[in-house]
Amino acid sequence: AASKTKSEFLANMSHEIRTPMNGVIGMASLLSMTDLDPEQRELVETIRESSSILLTIINEILDFSKIESGRLVLESQTMDLHECITSSIRLFEHEVRNRAILLNYDISQDTPRHIVTDATRLHQILVNLIGNAVKFTDQGEIDIFVTTEAMDETRNKLHFTISDTGIGIPTDKLDEIFESFSQVDSSSTRRFGGTGLGLSICRRLTSLMGGEISVESEVGRGSTFHFTI
Ligand code: ADP
Repeated sequence: AASKTKSEFLANMSHEIRTPMNGVIGMASLLSMTDLDPEQRELVETIRESSSILLTIINEILDFSKIESGRLVLESQTMDLHECITSSIRLFEHEVRNRAILLNYDISQDTPRHIVTDATRLHQILVNLIGNAVKFTDQGEIDIFVTTEAMDETRNKLHFTISDTGIGIPTDKLDEIFESFSQVDSSSTRRFGGTGLGLSICRRLTSLMGGEISVESEVGRGSTFHFTI
């Protein structure tokens, strides 16, 4: 009960923080459309970037506490799988273009285009995993594959693979990274930002969606995340 109360408190807190954050982001965005000298423009850009990073962190904490307190209810709607994947990839195109990374995806022929699932949550898992792949890869490739296995007349098991040629994960950390607030490098001087909540949210979401998530990796060569729903 204590843990549930704590999670509910966190969920409410995050919600209260999110509202003024949206105000900050919105106003900074309007400010950037006014006449500014180069120095002012740079300052406004920093406000925008920092507040959007902060909003991502708040959203992760909000989601995490929602799932912990058992308040997350999956929705089910007919959705376009291709659209979901391409819109997830689109979010990173800009970043990938600035670095020497190729982003490819392939959906097997027999995968139905329209499926009934929680589109927002599937999108969230994909964005998390692709985001990590982009974050931890300096050069090379990020490949996204989707295959399907018919379970019966109406249900399909979808298998997603997201692989990268990034820094990789040490073998002894492979289980740990799915725990909440767990990061391979959690020192305050680490190079990559983040809360360490993304994968734990993905694990909970895939399990709510009847699937599971796993990873294979080799340090210096890259990582491959698999998940099913
Ligand atoms: P965050 O990315 O916010 O730190 P995650 O839960 O998404 O949190 O990931 C936890 C940790 O797992 C990361 O900090 C990183 O050490 C490791 N990790 C996740 N994805 C990758 C990847 N594609 N390549 C290398 N390391 C990864």
